[in-house]
Amino acid sequence: MSEATDDAPDVVVVGGGIAGASAAAHLAASGLSVALLEKQAEYTDIVRGEWIAPWGLQEAQRLGVDECFGFGGGWEIREWTQWDETVAPGDAETVDMTRFVPGVGGPMAFPHHTVCELMAEQAADAGATVVMGAQRAAVTGGEQPTVTYRLDGVEHELRPRLVIGATGRSCTVGRQVGVSMTNSVHHWGGGLRVAGLDDWPMDVQAMGTEGERMFMVFPQGDGMARLYINFPTENRPRYQGDGGVDRFIADFELSSLPDGGASVYSAATPIGPLKLWPSVAMFPEQSIVTDGVVLVGDEAGNADTVLGTGLSCSLRDTRMVCDVLTGGDDWSPAAFEPYLIERKFRMERLHFGADIVAKLYCEFGPEAMARRRRARELMEENFAASVTGLLNMVAPENVPDFGFSEFFAERLFRERV
Ligand SMILES: Cc1cc2nc3c(=O)[nH]c(=O)nc-3n(C[C@H](O)[C@H](O)[C@H](O)COP(=O)(O)OP(=O)(O)OC[C@H]3O[C@@H](n4cnc5c(N)ncnc54)[C@H](O)[C@@H]3O)c2cc1C
Repeated sequence: MSEATDDAPDVVVVGGGIAGASAAAHLAASGLSVALLEKQAEYTDIVRGEWIAPWGLQEAQRLGVDECFGFGGGWEIREWTQWDETVAPGDAETVDMTRFVPGVGGPMAFPHHTVCELMAEQAADAGATVVMGAQRAAVTGGEQPTVTYRLDGVEHELRPRLVIGATGRSCTVGRQVGVSMTNSVHHWGGGLRVAGLDDWPMDVQAMGTEGERMFMVFPQGDGMARLYINFPTENRPRYQGDGGVDRFIADFELSSLPDGGASVYSAATPIGPLKLWPSVAMFPEQSIVTDGVVLVGDEAGNADTVLGTGLSCSLRDTRMVCDVLTGGDDWSPAAFEPYLIERKFRMERLHFGADIVAKLYCEFGPEAMARRRRARELMEENFAASVTGLLNMVAPENVPDFGFSEFFAERLFRERV
């Protein structure tokens, strides 16, 4: 991995996360000349998603990067138990997650930075120039786009045919080419990778709400797991400063878990940083495709993190864009129309689903608990009421239409007499 040597590659990808690194790997394997610019000097745990839905894994298969998940420490999770304060631990139902997408199995939990690193390596092996530590990337669009960046204090300029912007929520490329975002924040969250969970059932993920915490445990095998807590924005100081990590782990003492959470809070040892973030939904205000520049992944807008579909969405974006770039010589904005149409449809569904999940599981207090209890009872009576949960398993277009109607949302949340 080095500085870019071909100063006029077909494609420059700015940002080497899941979206950008998978694009570089696929395009290079398809015979295009590609430069991938990643600002980190080496991949580290910057606390991103580590749970990928089966439909996202299917996109990874289509891009030919699925083995990066497996070799990168991916761990199939087979069951999802919805422990929660509205149900006794022994009564919490378990969903078999392996049956939703044939040929894929259950979702996977994995160390994010290791998988990105393997994708970048795969891109380099296929002939891409991978530049780690690329600073101050600056993009201009137009018929002849340019990308400048600094490496070890030296300025470089590339003149590709097309730039893929994949810098995530910083939206660096988007801002440079005039795409602004509207943001909406429902709550905050924190994530920490831990080891030592030897008594936690490694096949089982947990997601539930208790007190002012919406907790998640995503096992990664060998006693490791990614822990997340979503919490009201005003509780941020609880996890900041000295002792924040200890308080975060201690907050897994939860009476809704079978052992009161002891297999987590009394055993977890941090193996990465704790990062806190606003659980933000982002909506682009201009087109994510302009002359010479296409945005993918979080840089193109994302649904509230709590839905857990950002990775799948990023891979879908990459696949749709790569289909255009490898499918013919027309790389004009018009050629990306199918991507824009599909993404609009997909994001409308994901935003709708994320709003339901956030309202159901990330609002706190007696009223929210009563609402969650009612919804849970409704789901027990009528499986159709759980339709939003399908978004975690199958692609949005395969979720029944009724799950995206105001009629459905109103019925799910309303008080019954
Ligand atoms: C805490 C957290 C938990 C999440 N949990 C889940 C989950 O469980 N499941 C799920 O599906 N999704 C989850 N998501 C969402 C998921 O992580 C994102 O949707 C996904 O990482 C987006 O990928 P990306 O490549 O677009 O952006 P990113 O992952 O943000 O990657 C962007 C990359 O670009 C690099 N970069 C940034 N700026 C520049 C620049 N100027 N020049 C060069 N490189 C640059 C960064 O270093 C990074 O490597 C979570 C997100 C967060 C923040």
